[in-house]
Order: sequence, then structure tokens, then C-alpha cells
Amino acid sequence: MKNIYELVRDNLKHLTPYSTARDDCKSRMSIYLDANENPYDNGVNRYPSPHQEELKKKISVLKNVPVGNIFLGNGSDEPIDLILRLFCPPGKSSMLQIVPTYKIYSVSAVINDVDVIDCPLDEGFALSADRLLEKVRTDTRVIFLCSPNNPTGNLLDRNEVMRVVEGFDGIVVVDEAYIDFAGDGSLAGEVGGHPNLVILQTFSKAWGMAGLRLGLVIADSFITGMLSRIKYPYNISILNQAKASELLDGAVQVMDKVEIIKNERQKLYEKLQTLPDVVNVYPSDANFLLVKFRNKQAAFDSLVEAGIIVRDRSSEYGCENCLRVTVGTPEENAALLKVLGTSAEEEKEDGTSLRMAEVRRRTKETDIVVRICLDRFKEPYIRTGLHFFNHMLEQIGYHSMTALDVVCYGDIQTDDHHTVEDVAIALGEAIGKALGNKAGIERYGFSLPMDEAEASVLLDIGGRTDFIWDVRFSSDRIGDVSSQMFEHFFKSLAENLHCNLHVRACGKNDHHIIEGVFKAFARALKQAVYRNPAAGGIPSSKGQI
Ligand code: PMP
Repeated sequence: MKNIYELVRDNLKHLTPYSTARDDCKSRMSIYLDANENPYDNGVNRYPSPHQEELKKKISVLKNVPVGNIFLGNGSDEPIDLILRLFCPPGKSSMLQIVPTYKIYSVSAVINDVDVIDCPLDEGFALSADRLLEKVRTDTRVIFLCSPNNPTGNLLDRNEVMRVVEGFDGIVVVDEAYIDFAGDGSLAGEVGGHPNLVILQTFSKAWGMAGLRLGLVIADSFITGMLSRIKYPYNISILNQAKASELLDGAVQVMDKVEIIKNERQKLYEKLQTLPDVVNVYPSDANFLLVKFRNKQAAFDSLVEAGIIVRDRSSEYGCENCLRVTVGTPEENAALLKVLGTSAEEEKEDGTSLRMAEVRRRTKETDIVVRICLDRFKEPYIRTGLHFFNHMLEQIGYHSMTALDVVCYGDIQTDDHHTVEDVAIALGEAIGKALGNKAGIERYGFSLPMDEAEASVLLDIGGRTDFIWDVRFSSDRIGDVSSQMFEHFFKSLAENLHCNLHVRACGKNDHHIIEGVFKAFARALKQAVYRNPAAGGIPSSKGQI
């Protein structure tokens, strides 16, 4: 692998970037007479921060990547252009892309006088690393991959993408604009070991901020640093930064919408296949479906007549007679299906109310949302900025079979203490709130030995509060969390859930021991919150708990 510095265009290697007086003067100022702004406050009279520190801190928590590996652009279209400018000498270089794919890569390349090489995808729009790498020329500086790909909707095979990253001596951009609809498919975690890998994401799709213009690069800090040097200084406006920051506080709600969209995608996928005019609906990991019709024009025209606009992709390679349909709200999708000749099925009401609660806890040290539903499972959405703590909280979600979401923007630059403790408080409160009057619950939970490490967690969620902790670790830290914080976590949780909690564990490996404890706690919780249909009443001989 070449040194990335060598790949940068010669004229940019020694660029002195534009800097502001505020960059040169880091301490806090109170009177700003440096930038020829209008001094009278109207909310936007000052230039925005060119470094977007606050926004990047939140995004770092949400995306599980250090701030230094993040670059923010005005949409992700801006970094597409900047990457070409950074690495491709005009008139003397080429970029390689799959086809069909997102049009802006080639449009930006032409604008920057960079030659475009196309590599058709295989059957089923699959990527073959070998076929792609065969197309690389000596002047090829950048490869663009899009996963999930637009307009085909499919995630590219992870191993094939990594073979491209490892087999190419230039920059590989993986555009993950639709990754939030694809479960666990992001390659952002690979950036650490691969300095030529550039991940592009956007807040325009799942995050619902298309109108704001906010895109994201996750890459080696050398690349994010170079992008910052060549961008226009104030590329993200004050309004954009403030609104995005506000919307990121609703991350848990965003994930709800993503789940609805994914369910709707599945329904549309199944329904559209039943239509006689539909030849194929391509499987999608994104928020749209590529649909091949017998006569796409007839389908397109009837939709337009009903006021519904979809994207005609029939002129793209391999997409003859294809329309690309974005997944809308359930009502919008039902309208689409009706025009195309089928109906959306009515939702079945199951009648039982779900026990769920959301707790928002804001202090100077942490800003937390914890949400739990005790009667349904979904993939946990956990973002605390502490990787190991995330991993442990995920165990609670998976093994208690609940729907657990935790987002915490905490002062982890100080240490892990407030984040761990405050999440425990909010989680305890949330479980307690979700339990409501506790009618019908099993009340007690007992758990079993886990792996080679024995962890036992006994739980009574009847309302009595006691805490026993008999767990010993051999090292001070486990991952990025100090070992002593785990006792504190469970103690704070017990106090706020008002439960008896007895935790005992031993073993050789600290990671196994604490993972065993979190899993055992989750299992005990699952048993204790279970609503026994045969019970119904309050699980106490006193008649109240
Ligand atoms: N990448 C892909 C694959 C896209 O489909 C789009 C928008 N359609 C973008 C990037 C650009 O997104 P934005 O500029 O809104 O961030």
C-alpha cells in the first residue's frame, strides 16, 4: 500500500489553508472584531465554527468513531467532489466506478476533468473484486463503490469490498448513504487498519435531514485533515449545525422511523411481486426498491396521473424497464400499491398494551435517552461513546429480549464515570416505569452459569431494594471502561429500579466475567418482567408491591 501522502495532488501537498483569527487564538474571547461581521446579534450574524466541534462530538458517539476520523460536508455530495479534487490531477487521472451506480460520482469526475472508467456489476448486481481490479489503469487514483448501491439497493459483499481496498494502491470510497437501512453492514470499523478506505455517509436519508445538507466522511485522520484544509472554511452554516445537533438528540426516534421504513420495504417487496405487470423486485438493503416492469412507461404514467412520482432508472446499465421506488409512509405506499393494482393489507391489532417507557435525563455531565419496551424484541440501539459499555448494554437488550435503546452524550473526555452511572440511573427508572403496576409479572429472576465464567444474578423487582456484589476482576480496566464502574452501574440501576439485586461471578478472564454478569442480569430481567397470562394479579401475598 502506498503512503497516502504520496497520493495527494502535488499542488495540495504544501497548501497553506485559509485560517481564521479564531483558529490562531484558541482561548475564549468576548469581543469579536476580527472577521468584519456585523456586531448586532440576529442569531446568524457570526460565522459558524469551521470545525463543527459540538456536532462532531455527537456524531462520534452515534457512529462509534473518534472525532479525528470525522469530516463533515455540505451533504455528502461535497466530499465526493473534494475527494476527487484532493487525489485526482485534472486531465491526468481517472476514477473507477461500478455501474449502475449513483450519478454524482461521474458528474463530479467530469467537472474535475477526471476520466471515468465503468465496471459493470455481475449477475444480481454483485461486485467482483477481480473484475473491478482488472479495470484499474496506471492513472487510476480513486475507486467509488456504493453499498447499499443506488439504484440497485443491495449491499455489496463485504469480503469483495475489502479485497478491493486491500488490492488497490489508491483511495477506495465506499458510499454508505443508505447504510442505516441495512442492519450491521457498515465498513466504518475497517478504517483503522486501512488508511486508503474512505467511508461516506449522509444525514439526508435515514436521519431525515436532506434539506439541511449534512454529509459525513469517516476516514484516516490524515485524509479528514486534508479534506478540512481544502474545503471552504464555513461549509456548514450556523443554522445547519444547530438544527442537526437538535435532531441528533432524537436519535432513538430516528431509529423508530427506520424500523417502520424497513417493515414497509418488506411489505412493498412482497406485494409488488404479486403484480402481473412486475417482472422482478430486487432485494433491497436501502429505503427504496428497484422494480422491473413489463412496461415501465405504463406504470410510470399511471403513477404520475395519480400524483405519485417515482424515479425512472430504465436507461441505467442492467436496469431496462426499471423504476426506483422510495419507501414512503404506510399511507403513501398503500396509495402506490392501489394505483399499481393491489392493496396493502390491514394491520392486525393484537389488543394487548405494550409495557414501554422512555426516560430523558439531562445534567451538566450527561444528556441521556433510555427507552425500553418489555414486550417486544428489536436489535438494541446503543450509543454511549464507550465501546465496551455499548457492548455490555447490548447484552442486556439481546438477552432480556426487550427493545432497548440508549443514547448518551456524556463527558467521556473526562472519564467514564458519569456516563456509566447516569445510564444506570436512567435505565433503572425506565424499567421501573415500563413495569407500571406490575400486574401479572413473574417478579423474580434467577439465572444460570454462563460459559467458563460463572455469573449468577438474582433479582426481585417487587420494590424492595438491596444490592450484593461479589465479583472480582484482575485488571483495572476492561476495554474503555474502568472495572470498578460495573459495580457502580448495577448499584445505581438497582437503586433506581427499586429491586433486590444479588450479583456473584468468578472466572479467569475479566471480559468473560463481566459479559457473563450482563447476560445473566438480562436473563434474570427477562424472567422477572415476564407477564404470565395465567397470573394477572399482583405477585405478592400482600396484594401489593
Ligand atoms: N450517495 C448516494 C448513494 C446517494 O444516493 C445520494 C443522494 N441521493 C448521496 C450520496 C448524496 O446525499 P447528500 O448529498 O444529500 O448527502
